[in-house]
Amino acid sequence: MFSLAGHGINRDVVIASAWVNHKALDFRADYREIIEKEVESELGLFQEAVTLLESDFKEIAKSFVISDKTDFNNLLNSQRLILNDPLLINGTKSLIKKSLINAECALVQQMNFIGEEFSKISNPYFKERKHDVEQIVKQVIQKLTSLRSDKNSNHVNSETLIYGENVIFISNDLSINEIPRLVKNGVCAFAIESGSPTSHLAIVLKSFEIPAIIGLQKSCHLIKHGEKLILDSECGNLIVGADNYVIKEYEKKIEHSKKRKNKLNDFIELPCETEDGIEIKLMANIEDPREAKKALGIGASGIGLFRTEFLFMEKESLPSEEEQFAAYKNVLVTLSPNPVVIRTLDLGGDKLSPLLSTSFEEDSNPALGQRGIRFSLENTDLFITQIRAIIRASLYGNAKILLPLITEKAEIIKAKALIDTCKKELENESGKRYDAIDIGAMIEVPSAALSIETLIPHVDFASLGTNDLIQYTLAIDRTNNKVSNLFNPKNPGVVFLIKNVIDHCLRANLPISVCGEISSDVEQIKFLLNLGLREISTNVSDILIIKEHISKIKIG
Ligand code: PEP
Ligand code: MG
Repeated sequence: MFSLAGHGINRDVVIASAWVNHKALDFRADYREIIEKEVESELGLFQEAVTLLESDFKEIAKSFVISDKTDFNNLLNSQRLILNDPLLINGTKSLIKKSLINAECALVQQMNFIGEEFSKISNPYFKERKHDVEQIVKQVIQKLTSLRSDKNSNHVNSETLIYGENVIFISNDLSINEIPRLVKNGVCAFAIESGSPTSHLAIVLKSFEIPAIIGLQKSCHLIKHGEKLILDSECGNLIVGADNYVIKEYEKKIEHSKKRKNKLNDFIELPCETEDGIEIKLMANIEDPREAKKALGIGASGIGLFRTEFLFMEKESLPSEEEQFAAYKNVLVTLSPNPVVIRTLDLGGDKLSPLLSTSFEEDSNPALGQRGIRFSLENTDLFITQIRAIIRASLYGNAKILLPLITEKAEIIKAKALIDTCKKELENESGKRYDAIDIGAMIEVPSAALSIETLIPHVDFASLGTNDLIQYTLAIDRTNNKVSNLFNPKNPGVVFLIKNVIDHCLRANLPISVCGEISSDVEQIKFLLNLGLREISTNVSDILIIKEHISKIKIG
């Protein structure tokens, strides 16, 4: 038995078998289990892919006209030898048959096996061969992918991937776009090597309320597919090879945590106030409109942050004005008359939807590139579509608009001018009148926190985005788990900025809330309340725990 450590998300314990995702090793393909009667066709498809690649090699050899073909032919021959290597080919075929997994999965597992054998030999020649095998495997996978799509066959596509009941998905990386599909197909917990506690991966996993460990010690190669695991996301531990005694102990922990959750439900009906009776406005952060009902159900007094970029995830085309209107209206109606703070698109960084990344050039340093309001002011078509949808939906509830990544007042002024034009155009088109919508700024860049007095006259409220504020103040990439241990809300520089923003807003009577991940950190809540903060927006899954915690704080 051994355990691997990482950052736990959604305090819980799960006991289930491992699904080791070899796709994460940069072999882009779908991996799935197959049933007995698919074995023959899977073997046939695999052989077809190998034969196709073989004939590609022949074609290449014919078509290249170079004076000295010796090196080139040597290279090609070594590739063909690998492609016909019985260890790779027969090994893959027997895995398809024995483990009932698709060709891609079997091929990558066999490749890993060969790679391990090579790495036992301390000879650079064999290390180099390992790389060659990987190159061949990638090409066979490409062939398999195109064969599957050509046939448009009864082979299962990514929409219908089934991982079996209750598996823990093990991977060295995970795109947030993949989460809904994986959850739908039986993944009940995640253990991922990448990611840090404030990365968007963590935030989306929280919104799915799925227990997870991110920033896990390197593990893909240590865990066997199908192996029983215990994932304890309260402590951030993944236990491999546990014996019955340990499993029993964790089963008790699961029972205990169920009871604790039920007890927290007592707080749903209670007002959110400190032990000495100071009322705190506790709101919810949501990513998906479907979370709105849950937020209301557990007594949130509004949505303090609706991260709308998630409407752009998992989409084949950009969401239209109508589609966005329906999503905003749905949330506004659900929460009415409570406020719903709709943040305009904050694409970029680790939130660039694949859909957009094909239409827009990706920045080499995305966290410092064209994200948030910068992206919206440069791509006004997208911004206007979103603003029109929000204005139209505002008739159905208490909508507020929040502008992300503000660095200076000029950005607010430009955005407000566009919002104003949208409002006038909509009024002319429809003959309806729309009330003015409160417009706020995310304070998440040090320049905005330092010069908050210059922004206050231009906004109706402000929201402290401490995830980015800490990232930019401490120069820590929030997606990089190598530096996530340096992410420190108590750093004097960070404390200075947070205090500066809260002080100025309170003095100017400007509503100010905190919506970064520190709002779900029980240690930080007291510090924030002592600074005079009275509005907090946190993840839906943390609301009751935070409410309970606030009830024990004395501000004095
Ligand atoms: C933040 O930066 O603190 C924040 C709430 O926004 P996001 O995490 O979506 O960047
Ligand atoms: Mg942010």
